[in-house]
Amino acid sequence: MKAVRLHPGPRVLVEDVPEPVADSGQVRVAVRAAGLCGTDLHAAHGRLPVPNLPVVMGHEGAGVVEAVGDGVKAVAAGDRVLLLPSETCGRCRACETGHLGLCPEARILGMARDGTFAEQIVVPASCVVRLPDDVPFEHGAILADAVATAYHAVATRGAVSGGERIAVVGCGGVGFHAILIARLLGARTIVAVDTSEGALRRAITAGADAVVDAGQQDARRAIRRSAGGDGPEIVVEYAGRKASVELAVSSVARGGRVVLGGVSGDVPTLPPLISFVGRELAVLGSMGYTRAELDRVVTLTAAGDLDLSHSITQRYPLARATDALDDLQHRRGDPVRLALMPPLS
Ligand SMILES: [Zn+2]
Ligand SMILES: [Zn+2]
Repeated sequence: MKAVRLHPGPRVLVEDVPEPVADSGQVRVAVRAAGLCGTDLHAAHGRLPVPNLPVVMGHEGAGVVEAVGDGVKAVAAGDRVLLLPSETCGRCRACETGHLGLCPEARILGMARDGTFAEQIVVPASCVVRLPDDVPFEHGAILADAVATAYHAVATRGAVSGGERIAVVGCGGVGFHAILIARLLGARTIVAVDTSEGALRRAITAGADAVVDAGQQDARRAIRRSAGGDGPEIVVEYAGRKASVELAVSSVARGGRVVLGGVSGDVPTLPPLISFVGRELAVLGSMGYTRAELDRVVTLTAAGDLDLSHSITQRYPLARATDALDDLQHRRGDPVRLALMPPLS
């Protein structure tokens, strides 16, 4: 089968590899769509260490079950499924409570084990979730990463309630979906903040009421003015940079919540305590999502309440994976999510 593999260097090659076989407890899925995420880019450029090379890249995917190993009862050949982005231990406290993103032994597809940028993938049965018939594969591919992650940040960590004002800093793949979800949950005013004009245009499509160019002189004032009152009650941050986190913290209203979802090695500085405590701020990390939240976004999408029709901005055959990575790197076409579509066999 064809697969996109990361080799030492790092180098990305599209090549022929043996078809994987489903052993006991495992499922083989014919991949119909795979999503490209910033993490894939970091791996392809050597910014993220990947221990066992070569490895088939990709952690977002959906497809059709082709074969199941002994003991698998939950799915059968022919079922449509989406893939969870990592294999979790199933025993720790995080796994027991369903918070998949916090399992310390999680093995991410495309990094710790072969991933979704291939015609076929084999995973433990616990890594597949039924995909309703009316949800296209390309939407299934991003539900368990870009969409559920945004849902956890906005609905659970940010606990947005109807009538609240929210700003989203960093409107790429996850930020775009944070805006969609904030709209769905009844946010009064949504302010989109980014440095890319194209990303801000797309943010309007997702439901933002106002846009702010984070590169402008006084972005903090612009965010507060756009939100109204003394600023947004919630700011969700997905750029993952020192400056953007500090902008998020300085823009939020008194008593507000800042939810940080962007990840990097940057070290942001908190405001002086007299201001941080005096304004009673909350700064919360947000990682992954729970199994119940994933089920919720699948249901919302199948019901048509969550409209992902603008989420996949570019599609590529598997053979053009390196072009797709390059377009994502240079944000060509103002991507929300790019999808690789393996050929139907
Ligand atoms: Zn991802
Ligand atoms: Zn675990």
